[in-house]
Amino acid sequence: MPKNPENHLDPRSPLVLDTVELPRRPGAMREISRVVEAPADLGVEMIGVPKGAEISLDLRLESVSEGVLVSGSVSGPITGECGRCLRTIDDSLTVTIQELYAYENSVTDETTDEDEVGRMQGDLIDLEPAVRDAVVLALPTNPLCRDDCPGLCSECGVHWDDLPDDHNHDQVDPRWAALHNLTNTEE
Ligand SMILES: [Zn+2]
Ligand SMILES: [Zn+2]
Repeated sequence: MPKNPENHLDPRSPLVLDTVELPRRPGAMREISRVVEAPADLGVEMIGVPKGAEISLDLRLESVSEGVLVSGSVSGPITGECGRCLRTIDDSLTVTIQELYAYENSVTDETTDEDEVGRMQGDLIDLEPAVRDAVVLALPTNPLCRDDCPGLCSECGVHWDDLPDDHNHDQVDPRWAALHNLTNTEE
């Protein structure tokens, strides 16, 4: 794939790491602990990290022969909607990432696909795709406010938690009602 010269990383972007202080000598390491603002769309439709929320990065950058190995954890708040009752879900999420980013023009850069190994732009690493993948993978596809959420009554839309145990909308079939009356008169 031809490199896109327009696609320059912004070193001030919250999920772009600058490795300028990491010596390009295999084994060299640097720890990064910082709190950044979440980018937009960090999640799925029903649940995700709200844009601008504070997410914590605890990462270790390690020089390897062809690039930089980034590993560690990313955590932050998640908000969403219960798939059964539509109540708001407030929770938190921690995901671990481990991703190799190849130096530009390294052998790895020349011989692997972009979707196999990440790429550096100069000293910069764009962590966002890896963080996004990890977060999306960790999120429930059908989020619930609690595991045993009973959901809403399909007839009146009221939460089952707020309804009496014997709540129902059974419409008595007129024919059954007639039979019922008959039975009653026999008593
Ligand atoms: Zn619920
Ligand atoms: Zn009801």
